Amino acid sequence: MKSCQELRTGGTVAIVGAGPSGSMLARLLQMQGFSVKVFERDASPTSRPQGGSLDLRKNAGQRAIEQAGLMEEFCRLARSDAKAFKMLDSQGKPHPAGDAGTHEEAGPEIDRGDLRQMLLGSLAPDTVAWGHAVKDVLPEAAGRWRLEFKDQAPVTADLVIGADGVGSRVRPCLTPVRPRYTGMAMLAAVIRKELWRGSELSELLGEGSVMFADHQQTIFVQRCSHDLILLYYSMVVAEDWPTAEGFALDDSKAVLNAITAAYQDWSPELLTMLTQVDGKFHRWPLSVMPPDYQWETQPGLAMVGDSSHAMPPFTGKGVNLALLDSLELADGLSADPAAEVTAVVKTCEARMQERTRNEISECLGVGRYIYGLEIDFTKPQGSDVRNLSQVIPVKDQP
Ligand SMILES: Cc1cc2nc3c(=O)[nH]c(=O)nc-3n(C[C@H](O)[C@H](O)[C@H](O)COP(=O)(O)OP(=O)(O)OC[C@H]3O[C@@H](n4cnc5c(N)ncnc54)[C@H](O)[C@@H]3O)c2cc1C
Repeated sequence: MKSCQELRTGGTVAIVGAGPSGSMLARLLQMQGFSVKVFERDASPTSRPQGGSLDLRKNAGQRAIEQAGLMEEFCRLARSDAKAFKMLDSQGKPHPAGDAGTHEEAGPEIDRGDLRQMLLGSLAPDTVAWGHAVKDVLPEAAGRWRLEFKDQAPVTADLVIGADGVGSRVRPCLTPVRPRYTGMAMLAAVIRKELWRGSELSELLGEGSVMFADHQQTIFVQRCSHDLILLYYSMVVAEDWPTAEGFALDDSKAVLNAITAAYQDWSPELLTMLTQVDGKFHRWPLSVMPPDYQWETQPGLAMVGDSSHAMPPFTGKGVNLALLDSLELADGLSADPAAEVTAVVKTCEARMQERTRNEISECLGVGRYIYGLEIDFTKPQGSDVRNLSQVIPVKDQP
């Protein structure tokens, strides 16, 4: 399969992963007449919680939405007043860094689940094969690739695109570099339903979000659609926590004890308010790719989104970059019918690598500032340190 025209008229595109990047890419390619199939590990679109609220920026995520012809639906689902953002310290006082201008560029917020559902709903029927967890990606003759699944018959395609997030099965075909665990995880929980409106926390939050930050820790509180309030606790824990500690994540009492111990320097009244959760916790280990890693383009393969540039959510741009990757790849494959597919992918990947070098560096800078995170990619996993001297000791501020 050499040219984009050949790919469009007689070829097959297989996208691994039906997250935001994979479903956006499928939508944009289908609009251009490509034959696309998406293989997704989840058994169904609703088989697990889809996370919180994301802001889609004008020059990134919203550009892709516009091109996908979904702006009207996006505006119906998105919440502009959810951009409101406050930063407070561990005593509930204004943070010395102010609101850090962090949300100046922010766009309207949309729940990740709503975004994904909107994208999935825009695809041709049966585009997504649910319950297809890719196990291996293997080369075949003539630059084609074979996808092997856990429980399903294998499939071959002319172009395989990894949109399968941080644990990508496509990435190892392109590079041995793997995301590095930062030593931190976010624990997500939902505030008890009766407190979604009318509670002290609800008043403090308004329609937006509040970041409590102190002592290298944060608790991020976010209002989502349907009034739901989500919390994220930053935790310095081993990658296999809490198993390594001898308890399970569904042992809510043990998890709450771990949170209370981790935040022992925080105001007890504030912590009481911030731990009125409904009892279920989700663990989100934070990993990051080295900012300057590169890979050689291979015929028949590409990557978009977190699979190529996983980073912690410190700058809140992951989904925007993921959608932008998909937009650029779809544009590249549709622009010039005579162009070679591999050359198009190479150009898109070069642009993506350049962009993500800056974005990951910026993200790591925020991690250093707030969490004291120092990652030396030249050293093995586990040797990273937290540099206390670089962190603003909020309690010592005038
Ligand atoms: C809780 C949370 C909060 C976030 N907050 C923000 C924010 O405020 N702003 C922001 O911009 N970004 C945020 N992000 C990041 C953002 O959600 C991701 O950057 C974005 O979803 C990346 O999209 P993606 O499609 O590349 O990968 P993912 O969303 O990870 O999707 C990958 C898909 O691939 C599937 N998959 C994985 N492995 C396989 C396999 N082997 N076979 C088949 N399918 C597979 C997965 O099930 C999933 O559906 C947040 C992420 C989370 C989890």
